[in-house]
Amino acid sequence: MNFKDLSLEQIIEKIEAGETTKEAVFQYFLGRVETYDSKLQAFNYVNENGLNQEEWLLKGIPLAVKDIFCEKGVKTTASSKMLADFVPPYNATVIEKLQKEGMSSLGKVSMDEFAMGSTGETSQTVQSVNPWGTNRIPGGSSSGSAVSVAAGLAPAALWTDTGWSIRQPASLCNVVGFKPSYGRNSRFGVMPMASSLDCPGTFTKTVKDAALLYNIMNGEDKLENTSLKTKDIIDMSIFENADLSGKKIGIPKEYFEEWLDKGVKETIEKSIEKMKELGAEIKEVSLPMTKYAIAAYYIICPAEVSTNLGRLDGIRYGHNSSDPYASMDELYLNNRTEGLGVEAKRRSIVWSYVLSAGFYDAYYKKATQIRTLIIEDFKKVFEEVDILLTPASPSVAWKKGEKSEDPVKMYLADAYTIPASLAGLPGISVPAWFAHSEDEEKELLPVGIQLLAPRLDETTLFEVSHAYEVSTQFGKQNPIGFED
Ligand code: GLN
Repeated sequence: MNFKDLSLEQIIEKIEAGETTKEAVFQYFLGRVETYDSKLQAFNYVNENGLNQEEWLLKGIPLAVKDIFCEKGVKTTASSKMLADFVPPYNATVIEKLQKEGMSSLGKVSMDEFAMGSTGETSQTVQSVNPWGTNRIPGGSSSGSAVSVAAGLAPAALWTDTGWSIRQPASLCNVVGFKPSYGRNSRFGVMPMASSLDCPGTFTKTVKDAALLYNIMNGEDKLENTSLKTKDIIDMSIFENADLSGKKIGIPKEYFEEWLDKGVKETIEKSIEKMKELGAEIKEVSLPMTKYAIAAYYIICPAEVSTNLGRLDGIRYGHNSSDPYASMDELYLNNRTEGLGVEAKRRSIVWSYVLSAGFYDAYYKKATQIRTLIIEDFKKVFEEVDILLTPASPSVAWKKGEKSEDPVKMYLADAYTIPASLAGLPGISVPAWFAHSEDEEKELLPVGIQLLAPRLDETTLFEVSHAYEVSTQFGKQNPIGFED
């Protein structure tokens, strides 16, 4: 049976109807990983338990898991040399919940080191490539997760989004990337990048699959003090309707002013027309603080990253250098110099600067004030509209190496997703259309739209994104070369 073109929902239906078994599904995707992963480099490890132990194999429908979610007894490295041999003694809460509902991990997929990056190129394990053009980046930090769903190596994948990690790779790889409101999905057992921003979420083939996994994953976790007390259950009957009459969709004008490639802009305009055809009322709105979001994020994020990475000293956790040392400082220096990659070091240095006594008020404090203003911007706009529609990424997938030498150019690519992350809003990227790259190859590549909802209103987000998805069907298009 060919499972790669089926949604997770359809696969579950076939298992329940007795037309197939979990084992057959697991073996099918394992076979696809064995055939195509040498080309795509999505997986850090295929789950050896899955390969060897019948008991594990029978456990569940396979998901590709970003190598940042702790799984008991399974190596979890955050794609860093620092944790090359780390085997967690416990499961992340979301992993436990999914296992109870019959899902299991097919293996750990690659990512930017500790989720810092926008292309997958800071990974110290394998560097995933985009199945729509293997000389191009798949987006990051959740690079391997997007690739595995886009190329049909897994029916769905787990990811985390701190600034854009779910919505941007989804857009560049033509899959659905969903990030719930901050606090909906527990962060317990998910290696932290920036704790006030990190959100576990999913990559799926359809919006309905995203809702299906969300219903399992969200809810209170006594082990995680920022997890919300309430459990949210999406009523699946919302997916029977694709009519947007009565819905107001806001188009923030600031998202169309700078950085946006012409081809992407045109596809977003077509998406807006489509929303009108579906009955939505379109309204231009303004989010004036947008222009400060990147600067604020790249102060707040490194400050939190550096604090979280502080424990990785090679003594309590992490890589232990064999170089001789004459002092504790030298021991830390050797371990961290060898264990951490360049982006992790860069952010640690930025942190020392922005939190230092002389600069705290000028940088860190100001960044947190901007964050509050961004939250207020969104609150005001959501008094006027139900949903916001924006580009997810300013361009289609660019070529490997094109921005990696210039961190600022790379950071600017996050412009459209970071404001919502700072505000803790739910967001989704849905396959929207295709546009030509602006380089000499003029390749036709996927473009996603980002939809954002008010905090805790995941239902409206699913309703609107599903209506768009079923009326356009762009998500059904697959990259060439991964058919068998
Ligand atoms: N590109 C952003 C960063 O490097 C976001 C990454 C993420 O969401 N994990 O910080």
